Amino acid sequence: MINAMVINEFHVGLGIVLSLGIYWLLRHSWHDRQAKIKQTIELTQLNTQLQLELSERQRTEAELYDLYNHAPCGYHSLDAQGIFIRINDTELNWLGYSREEIIGQKRFIDLLTPAGIAVFQENFAQFQQLGQVNNLEFELLCKTGSRLWVNLSATAVKDAAGCYVMSRSTLFNISERKVMEEALRNSEERFRSAFEHASIGMTLLGLDGQWLQVNTALCQILGYSEAELLTTTVRTLTHPDDFSADRVHWQQLIQGELTTYAMQQRYFHKQGHLVWVSLNYSLIRDPAGQPLYLIAQIQDVTTRREIEQIKTEFIALVSHELRTPLTAIRGSLGLLTSGALRNYPERAQRMIEIASIDTERLVQLVNDILDLERLESGQVALTKQPCNVVDLITRSLNLVQTEANKTAITIVTMPTTAHVWASPDHIVQVLANLLDNAIKFSPPGSRVTVTAETILAEPAYVLLRVQDQGGGIPSNQLEMIFERFQQADVSDSRRVGGTGLGLAICRRIIQQHWGNIWAESNGDRGSTFCFTLPIPIALADCN
Ligand code: ADP
Repeated sequence: MINAMVINEFHVGLGIVLSLGIYWLLRHSWHDRQAKIKQTIELTQLNTQLQLELSERQRTEAELYDLYNHAPCGYHSLDAQGIFIRINDTELNWLGYSREEIIGQKRFIDLLTPAGIAVFQENFAQFQQLGQVNNLEFELLCKTGSRLWVNLSATAVKDAAGCYVMSRSTLFNISERKVMEEALRNSEERFRSAFEHASIGMTLLGLDGQWLQVNTALCQILGYSEAELLTTTVRTLTHPDDFSADRVHWQQLIQGELTTYAMQQRYFHKQGHLVWVSLNYSLIRDPAGQPLYLIAQIQDVTTRREIEQIKTEFIALVSHELRTPLTAIRGSLGLLTSGALRNYPERAQRMIEIASIDTERLVQLVNDILDLERLESGQVALTKQPCNVVDLITRSLNLVQTEANKTAITIVTMPTTAHVWASPDHIVQVLANLLDNAIKFSPPGSRVTVTAETILAEPAYVLLRVQDQGGGIPSNQLEMIFERFQQADVSDSRRVGGTGLGLAICRRIIQQHWGNIWAESNGDRGSTFCFTLPIPIALADCN
């Protein structure tokens, strides 16, 4: 019984134990399942997350790849030897090469001009050390043979030990800018050359009147070097009387009342004399319309003004000289043709004489003007030959003897054996003019002396003199009387007639014989006119 009870209890206990075990097992496997389910959920979530991240990453990479390759600038990387290890599509397109032809195949310098190679070699080693380079300009040689200007900046990629691994280079296409720069440079060069080589003076002036830039022609006009001019102002060199007018025009230009203006004014030459210039100013403004500086063209018109002055005087004198005898001729002939003097034959005769004398004066004046013009324009060819001076003096005496006789003037000639190399007709014209003047300006009954002397100098020459006992010539007019229409005393011309051209003609003739002519005078003790002529070559050799 006891055994049965024990066995029974044992069975009950076993049952409990089993039940508990089963319970525990059941409970435990439920927990496991729950944990696994949770884990699975978590893994699934993680997986989804990773998938998302991966596709995000792929998208970013694709974007970066697209950005790298299709950026509007070139990218490449060079290893320590300067060989391409990366390059983007943009740069490949510029160069016209495929990636295979470039990567590991070409060095950057293979694509450069000699000038570019020099720049690269100057900078690459330093770049590897410093790790950065900015704004280098290279002209790249493309596969097709065309060229492309780029601006390159780069940073260096280094390893943990600080050793250079590769470059990260960015290149911008600056060909268009370079073309524009080149065009600008060419245009500046053309302007500079035109400015520098202009045959007239050119200058850029600051608004304060400082010379900013001057060309060679202007330096020549003013006698200063470029460096000297650039340290002065227009005011310093402008005649004070002209400066205020100049200033007013400047202000009008700056205020926009004038766009350009021209005027004539005087500058002081470095040597002190005045130079007349014709000025033409324009104002240069910046894009905003602000005045920057003035540009001026300056022409030396001194000679032109002198010629104009001479022309004005000439016209005034000629019109006066021509009108005076013409008025007399017209008056005389008018009286005769009117018949008013029909019953006065003596007065009619006098009118005819007046008309004749004034006609003669007119003819003389016209002849003198034409003579001088022909001599000055080189139209008169002097045919020179060896001449016996005595013959020349005799021929000229014959021309004036009648005039000398009218006032009982004696012309004395000294014996001479001199010979000259000259155009005989022209020397006779000179001598006759000097004798004619001597007779005109000498008192009646006085003496005029003609001498000739061979001067043994190197080279030898003959000195001829025509000396009178007239009223003489003031010393300050001795030179002036050789100029056109110059007469020592205006009242003389009224009294003795003359055109004021005779001595000017004599000087041109003597100059064309390589000689000199001048006047000497001792106050009121008469005048001496001297001139020199070369002696014939054969005779000169004997001397
Ligand atoms: P013109 O026809 O007036 O004589 P010239 O040129 O020959 O012209 O002379 C210019 C001036 O020089 C004269 O008008 C005169 O005033 C002066 N002159 C020339 N020769 C003499 C002289 N022998 N004595 C004084 N004055 C003279």
